Amino acid sequence: MSTDATNYSRPLRLAAGSSGTDEADLATRLENSTVLVTADPTAPAVATTLRVLIGNLRRLPLRLHLDPNGGDGHLDPDLVAELHQLSAGIDADWSLALTRPETTTFHVHIGTRSTSAHVSGVADGHGARLRPAGIKFTPLQQPGTGLGGVLAGAMLTAEVFKVVVGVRPDRHGPARPIDFCPITLSEPDATVRPLKPLHATALIGGGAIGTAIALIFRELNATGALTVVDPETYDNPNVTTYSLGDRVTAAEKTPKVHLVRDQLPGVNVEPFVGTARDYIQAVDAGTQPMPTTVLGAVDSIDARHEIAAIHATHTLDGSTGGATGTMLSLSEATWAGPCLRCYYPHRPNQGPTVIDVLAERTGLPRDLLARGTDNFTAEQLAALGDMTPEDRAILERHVGKDICGLGKAFGLTGENESFNPSAAFVAQQAAALVVGALIRGGIAARPNYVQYDALFGPYGDMTLHRNPRAGCRCQTDAELHRAVRSHRR
Ligand SMILES: [Zn+2]
Repeated sequence: MSTDATNYSRPLRLAAGSSGTDEADLATRLENSTVLVTADPTAPAVATTLRVLIGNLRRLPLRLHLDPNGGDGHLDPDLVAELHQLSAGIDADWSLALTRPETTTFHVHIGTRSTSAHVSGVADGHGARLRPAGIKFTPLQQPGTGLGGVLAGAMLTAEVFKVVVGVRPDRHGPARPIDFCPITLSEPDATVRPLKPLHATALIGGGAIGTAIALIFRELNATGALTVVDPETYDNPNVTTYSLGDRVTAAEKTPKVHLVRDQLPGVNVEPFVGTARDYIQAVDAGTQPMPTTVLGAVDSIDARHEIAAIHATHTLDGSTGGATGTMLSLSEATWAGPCLRCYYPHRPNQGPTVIDVLAERTGLPRDLLARGTDNFTAEQLAALGDMTPEDRAILERHVGKDICGLGKAFGLTGENESFNPSAAFVAQQAAALVVGALIRGGIAARPNYVQYDALFGPYGDMTLHRNPRAGCRCQTDAELHRAVRSHRR
């Protein structure tokens, strides 16, 4: 693979984990899969749903077709041109064919009236409804929104993924009717709830979940003000796992906070290039205002503990992970408890983490190791101090490879225990839960913890009400935290 080819290693790793297939065999299987997308031009939020579905499917190395006349009318040529450009931005070699293929591995349709698609789906208000072939839709409750469109696109991607990847039967649910709204945490209803202008709100993390939150804001035509916090620049592997950005974004090494800013023309975005810890120092120094609402979009327990130390009134934290990287969750937290430390305690007697050991042995910064989403560079190696010749040799061999593979390179994690990258369609569903909680009004009187697997879909009793954890700092240091909050205002 040439260096400027689109990097599919992360989605392939995720897919291999859920299919039990070797990554090379899986790449061959995907390259021989043909997916057909069709859409009714009048389907709710059809443009948003198409953007998400085409973008997500182009992040897998499969044959992708969009038949602009395959629904109950002709798609707007401007929209079709935009989708073609979106696809080419992600991968110039595997583009989007605007024809109906002779044979189809999977046909996915946006709309409620297809008779030939394997699965159909539409937005309904902020929610989504999906139906396998042969099962009728119930009447829609509301016009589709940008949130509903993103959710419908993400959930339809999951249905395609299960089939083209050949996910093991024990690792996914059967195709079934799904009716889900991230506001009600149940079925879409007839209540219209707008996204209020963003105010005193900070998004911590511009990675897989952060770009998915920004995508939803963009498609909801969000307004107001938002601080975006992230220390990193956008890199090639991000093209196939994030919801925003393309090969040009990567080639220009765009700071992730600038990518988010540029995608939100209606929002006054304050980009903050730094970690959550840097941001807290700026709040303490009075150069950044104290946020009331924090949207958490980070990928490590350490970073969540940093978010907890902001002591914000509302913390709405999205996460992805689990054995195959397809679990997703929302944790509603507040400074008085449950805080994010209540949700993500360091387990006692656990010993040092892989990150602890790697930081100790190599001298690499913990936040770099914790994120793990970039390639390890020769510059980073050159900046390191003393270490054993053996450890230095391991690092030299690892230049140009994922930082998240270092744990395995040092023999600290096994094949299946290394970081599992999250596919965009998983992060988008976590982001939908976060934005859903924001539209609901922030943390509920009884804070919600919501968790489901994107390959099984949401289910009835996935929402728990969460109490503070006895012995957590939010309980034992409540007075100190109150004093910190009053200082920061
Ligand atoms: Zn706590």
